Amino acid sequence: MNADVVILGSGFAGSLLAMILARHGLRVVILDRDRHPRFAIGESSTPIADLTLARLAARHDLPEVTPLARWGTWRHAYPEIGCGLKRGFSYFRHVPGEPFADTPDHAASLLVAASATDADADTHWLRADVDALLFRQALGRGAVGREGCTITAVEREAAGWRVAWTNERGAAELVTSPFVVDATGTGGLLGGALRLGRLDDVLSNRTGAIFTHLAGVASWDAEREEAGDASTTTPFRSDDAAQHHVLRGGWMWMLRFAGDRCSVGIVAADVGSVDVADPDGSWQRRLAPYPSLVRLFAAARPLRRFATIPRLSRLWERASGPGWAFLPTTAGFIDPLHSTGIAHSLQGVARVADMLLAPRFDETAWLAYGRDVVDEVRWIDRLVATATAAIDDFPLFTLACHLYFVATIACERGVAGLDPDVGFLAARDQPLRAALESACVDLGRAASDPSMRDATCAAIRDRLEPWDRAGLFNRDARNRFAHTAAPKEAAVTVAGP
Ligand SMILES: Cc1cc2nc3c(=O)[nH]c(=O)nc-3n(C[C@H](O)[C@H](O)[C@H](O)COP(=O)(O)OP(=O)(O)OC[C@H]3O[C@@H](n4cnc5c(N)ncnc54)[C@H](O)[C@@H]3O)c2cc1C
Repeated sequence: MNADVVILGSGFAGSLLAMILARHGLRVVILDRDRHPRFAIGESSTPIADLTLARLAARHDLPEVTPLARWGTWRHAYPEIGCGLKRGFSYFRHVPGEPFADTPDHAASLLVAASATDADADTHWLRADVDALLFRQALGRGAVGREGCTITAVEREAAGWRVAWTNERGAAELVTSPFVVDATGTGGLLGGALRLGRLDDVLSNRTGAIFTHLAGVASWDAEREEAGDASTTTPFRSDDAAQHHVLRGGWMWMLRFAGDRCSVGIVAADVGSVDVADPDGSWQRRLAPYPSLVRLFAAARPLRRFATIPRLSRLWERASGPGWAFLPTTAGFIDPLHSTGIAHSLQGVARVADMLLAPRFDETAWLAYGRDVVDEVRWIDRLVATATAAIDDFPLFTLACHLYFVATIACERGVAGLDPDVGFLAARDQPLRAALESACVDLGRAASDPSMRDATCAAIRDRLEPWDRAGLFNRDARNRFAHTAAPKEAAVTVAGP
C-alpha cells in the first residue's frame, strides 16, 4: 500500500487523528497489535479535553464526535458507550486507623467544580468502548485499519517510511508513506526503532500504580451522609466526580461509570516488586489502614485482575523529526494526578492534524511541536511532583493542586478562544509559568521549614492572585469551589474552517 500518513497505535488518539485526516481525503493506514474492544486505563477527562474535542469536531466537521464532548449529549447519542459523570475534582484526606472525619471548614476535603450542570459536565471514558467507537468511525471515514498485527519493521527510505507487519492470518503486509505518527503510548515503537534517548532520569515524579475495575463499590456520598456529614454534596455529589482519596504516602482514584462499574487505583512512590508479585494482596494491604474505605469496598468484586505499573513517569528525548512525530502520551507521561493524559493527547492530535493538513508543510512548525511536547511533559512533571511531595500535608497538597488549577484554567481559556493560546497547562505563558515555577519551589520550602509555612503560603497566594480566575485563593471558600469551565460553545465558535 501507499499512504499519506501511517499511524501506529489505534487508541482514541491515533484513531481520532486517523479519522480527521481521512475526513480530509488523506490516505491513512492505522495499525495496532491489539484488537478492539480492549482494556485501556486513563479514563477521566477534563474541561481542556472536552473543549479540545468539541473544537476538533467542529473544525473538521465530524458530527459523530461532537456528542462525546459532554455528558448529556454523549448519553443521548451513544447510550451503549460506557461513560461516567464528572462534575469536577474531589479530594478527601484519610488518617490511618481512623474513620474519615472532616471539620466545618473542610480541613480534610477539597471540591472543585468544572461544570454547572450534569448535561454540560465532563466524563469518564470507558476506554474499551470509546477507543473501539473512534476506531470504527475512523474506518468509516476511509482510513485503512489493521488490528492484531505484529509490526516487523519501521524503516526510513529515500522518500519517507516503509512499515511492514504480519497480519492476524500470518501474512506479510507493507505500506510506504512520507509520514509516520507514533500513537502507541507506552509501546514506544518508533522511539525504539529510531534508537532515541530517554529523559526518564530527569523526571522528579516517580510514582507507580495498582489498579482495576470493580463492581459493588458503595457510595462515598451515602457513607458521608450516614456519618452525619453531607458536605460532599456541595457544590456537586462527589460520586459524580473524579474522587481522590488522599492516603499516607499516596492516593487512590475512584471513577464511577454508569451502571455498576468503578475504576480504582492506588498511586504511590513505593509501588514495587511486592506489588507486582501480588497485586490483589497489595491492594488489600494498602487499603486496610483506612476504615472508611474498607467499608466502601466491603462488597466490591474485581471485574478484571489488578494490574501494577511500578514506575509511571517516562519521556523520550524528542517527539518529532523529519517525517515522524509522537502523539503526546507516546512522547511521555507522568502520573494520573490532575488527569492530564487525555487532554494532552487531544491537544497533540489537534496540532499534528493541522500541520499535516496545511496547504504547505511547515518543517519548522513540525519540529517546534516536538520540542513543545517534551517541554510540556516536563512542565506536567513539575506541577505533579510538587503535589506528590506534599501528599502527607493536606493544606500544602491543596495549595499544590490549586497551582495546577490556575494553569489549567489559563489553558482552558486559550482553547476556548477567550484568551490567546498559551499551550498545554499554560506552558508557553512565560509570566504565569515563572510565577508557578517559583510557587513550586516555595511550596517545597514551606514543607521543609514549618516556621516559614504560613508566610510562604500567603506569599504564593498573593503572587498568583492576578491569575486566580476561580477564586481558588479565597480562604472564605473553605475548600469548596463552584468554578465553571469556559463554555464548549466558545471552543466551537473559534474552531474555524
Ligand atoms: C495508571 C494510569 C492512569 C491514568 N489516568 C488518567 C486519567 O484519569 N485521565 C487522563 O486524562 N489520563 C490518564 N492516564 C493517561 C492515559 O492513559 C493516556 O493519556 C491515554 O491512554 C493515551 O491514549 P493513546 O490513544 O495516546 O494511547 P493508548 O491508549 O495507550 O493506545 C496505544 C495503542 O497502541 C497499541 N500499541 C502499543 N504498542 C504497539 C506496537 N508495538 N505495535 C502496534 N500497536 C501497539 C496498543 O495496543 C494501543 O491500542 C492514565 C495513565 C495511566 C498509566
